[in-house]
Amino acid sequence: MEIIGRRVRMSSVARKLRREENKTIGLVPTMGALHEGHLSLIREARRMSEIVIVSIFVNPTQFGPGEDFGRYPRDLTKDTAVLTDYNVDYIYAPSVDEIYPKGFSSFINAEGIAEIFEGASRPGHFRGVATIIGILLNTVHPDFTFFGQKDAQQAVLIKRLVRDLAFDTEIVVLPIAREESGLALSSRNAYLNEEEREAASVIRRALERAKAASVSGEHVTKHLLEIVAAGIDAEPLARVDYAAIVDPETFESIDRIDDRPALLVIAVFIGKVRLIDNIFLPAARVRKGTGDLKE
Ligand code: AMP
Repeated sequence: MEIIGRRVRMSSVARKLRREENKTIGLVPTMGALHEGHLSLIREARRMSEIVIVSIFVNPTQFGPGEDFGRYPRDLTKDTAVLTDYNVDYIYAPSVDEIYPKGFSSFINAEGIAEIFEGASRPGHFRGVATIIGILLNTVHPDFTFFGQKDAQQAVLIKRLVRDLAFDTEIVVLPIAREESGLALSSRNAYLNEEEREAASVIRRALERAKAASVSGEHVTKHLLEIVAAGIDAEPLARVDYAAIVDPETFESIDRIDDRPALLVIAVFIGKVRLIDNIFLPAARVRKGTGDLKE
C-alpha cells in the first residue's frame, strides 16, 4: 500500500493503472477517523474493483464558519493501519494546500437540492462537497465511487453531479452501518459523552416507530412526523433540527406515501452535537388491478 500526498502523483498512478494495466478502480472518499461505516464501503469497493483507493481529506470548504473543522478527529496513523489490514492499494491523503493552492477559485454549485435540509442548516456545505468530489473524480477517474446512505442527501447530490457534468464513474450507495444501540456510526459520535451517546439512540427508535406506523397503514407524512417529534421530544438532551419525509430521488417533501418508497430524513442536536440519520419507508401497498392505494 502506498500513501500518496501529491495530486500529480495520484493522477499519474491512476492513469497508469487504467491505461497500461487495464485495471478497474474503486474510489472511497472519506474524511478519515475510519469506522465500520467506512469499512463497509471499502469491503464493497474491494469486491467490485481490482484497485481500491481510499481518500482521506478533511475538506475545509464543506465546513461553515463556527463548525468543527479545527477539532474534527484526525488520525492518519491509525487509519493507515486499518487500511493495510483491508488490503487497500492506495491512500490518497493530500494536504489542504495541495487541493486548494493559493489562487484556487473554481467551485461546483449544485442548485436546488444543495439548498434544502443539510444545505439550509449548513450553508455552503454542499458547494464544498461537490467541489472536492469533482476534484477527486478528475484526479482518479475511478470506475466506481462509493458513498454511504448515512449521508443520503449527499449521495443524491453526487449522483446528480455525476449525471449533470458527465463524470465517467458509477456511484454506488451502501446501507447505514449502526452501533448495537441503533445509533448510526459517525466520526462525530466521538464528540458525545456517555450520557449523550445513550440519549442519541432515541433517533433510531423514533425513526423505527414512524416506519412501523407507516407499515401498519399510516401514510400521511404529517402524522408520521408527529410520531418522530414525540419520540425525540421524550429525550431531554435531544432537539430536532429538521425532520421530513421526502422523495428519495429528488428530496422533495411529500404529503402522503404512495406507491413508491419514501425517505424519512432527520437532523438532531444531542446537546451540542448535531447528528443525521434516515430511514426508508416502504411504498403503500396498491390494490391489485385498481391502482387504488390500500388503506
Ligand atoms: P465521512 O468520512 O464522514 O465524510 O464519510 C465518508 C463516507 O462514508 C461517506 O460516503 C459517508 O456517507 C459514509 N459513511 C459515514 N458513516 C457511515 C455509516 N454509518 N454507514 C455507512 N456509510 C457511512
